[in-house]
Amino acid sequence: AVRCVWLRQQLSDGAGGEMGREVASGFINRNLFFDRLQQAILRAERSNQRLALIHINLDDFRTVNESLGYRQGDELVLKLAERLRAVLRRVDSLMRIGGDELAVIAENIDDSLDMSRIVRKLVGAMNDPVVVAGSTVAITASLGVATYPEAGDTPETLLRRANRAMFEAKRDAGNSYRFYNRQLHITAGHQLKLEADLRNALRGGELELYYQPRIDLITGEARGVECLLRWNHPTRGLVMPDEFIPAAERSGLIVPIGYWVIEQACQRLREAAEEGYPGLVFAVNLSFRQFHDRKMTETIFRIIFNANVDTSLLELELTESAMMHDPDYAQRCLRELSQLGISFALDDFGTGYSSLTNLQHLPISLVKIDKSFVQQLGDTGDSEHIIRAIISLAHSLQMSVVAEGVETEGQLEFLRQQHCDEVQGYYYARPMPWPDLLEFLQERNRLACLQE
Ligand code: C2E
Ligand code: CA
Ligand code: CA
Repeated sequence: AVRCVWLRQQLSDGAGGEMGREVASGFINRNLFFDRLQQAILRAERSNQRLALIHINLDDFRTVNESLGYRQGDELVLKLAERLRAVLRRVDSLMRIGGDELAVIAENIDDSLDMSRIVRKLVGAMNDPVVVAGSTVAITASLGVATYPEAGDTPETLLRRANRAMFEAKRDAGNSYRFYNRQLHITAGHQLKLEADLRNALRGGELELYYQPRIDLITGEARGVECLLRWNHPTRGLVMPDEFIPAAERSGLIVPIGYWVIEQACQRLREAAEEGYPGLVFAVNLSFRQFHDRKMTETIFRIIFNANVDTSLLELELTESAMMHDPDYAQRCLRELSQLGISFALDDFGTGYSSLTNLQHLPISLVKIDKSFVQQLGDTGDSEHIIRAIISLAHSLQMSVVAEGVETEGQLEFLRQQHCDEVQGYYYARPMPWPDLLEFLQERNRLACLQE
């Protein structure tokens, strides 16, 4: 029926030892995929017809792998693929181009009605949950569509643009799709400009760290600070990280930026000691993307070695997703770094899917409760229970707990009653430039002295 490249013989140019696995999971390598796409483009060109490349990415597939295991994850992809194949036409081909990525080449498209019909059928095919190994899994996907000739006439351009549209679709919840269009093209241009600006920002010294204190609930003293990145843009003024970190992650710029942040934090760590705060902990955020740099541990080691600081005062904050991407590798990095004396905090805890018990073999000494829970205190009963549970579990695993986003007296009181160790939030202080932090610390510690 459908021309499907889900076939063993077509994987014959796969890599030696890996072959068995690749075949079993239905992967096709990129070269072969580009070949197919090139052929399809030539056919479309000759027959003067359109074609659509549909890039399908399963949402949050990492979580599926994490909770079901990789084999079941693969089985799920294969089952979904079967369903998709069933709604495709004879001329369409379906390929698995990555762990959680599928691509459809739909040829002989007469009009846009045709095209949206295909896309809607694909989306429809994914609506029902999939049963793997006895578990029912509801999975959604994001689809990006790029058409020849409108969106491009080479395999590379088509894939890049379908990918771009797919990322756009990811913004919507549930199964969703987007077509690549001029607007996206403009946004893509905007994205490139942002990346270029950011590169200059790093070189031109436009980046700055702000510091937000974490207050110990027993002593009332600032025990540590979180270093938060700001961009002093020459025309736009102060730019917040939410506006540029995603771009930095997509472009890989987060790697050099991340090292700059650690370097800067180490320098401040030394200054803090000179100013009379020798035990102040400096927490730095680490993005999942920084783990892609295979020299990460080595580079971090070099930075702190050159800075000659007490490594036990450096803390790296990571989210669950950073570790779920490649758990074995992440674990190795964490171990190596913790052997240097660096400690780790789990950021935004409660928003992901893994349980603390899953993470207990990792060298994590602190959990940061996500601010969304703190801010919902009083709204519904749920967040109270969740916070209580996180604190007691973390304590039983010998981890400390910091609550983020504390803005009110009421939130503070609740956390105190629950024996939360430290709090961070506007109630005490907003993130601030270095000189302001020094002033804050002076005032704070004077108050703490008076309290005693
Ligand atoms: P995050 O790590 O969860 O940082 C905490 C964020 O909560 C900060 O936002 C902080 O300003 C904000 N916040 C603190 N207290 C309160 C409060 O009481 N109420 C409210 N509503 N918000 C509060 P910010 O500085 O905008 O940073 C946003 C995110 O950007 C950070 O979230 C972090 O994920 C990322 N980020 C910041 N600096 C870096 C960095 O150097 N590297 C990387 N990879 N990511 C960074
Ligand atoms: Ca953080
Ligand atoms: Ca956080």
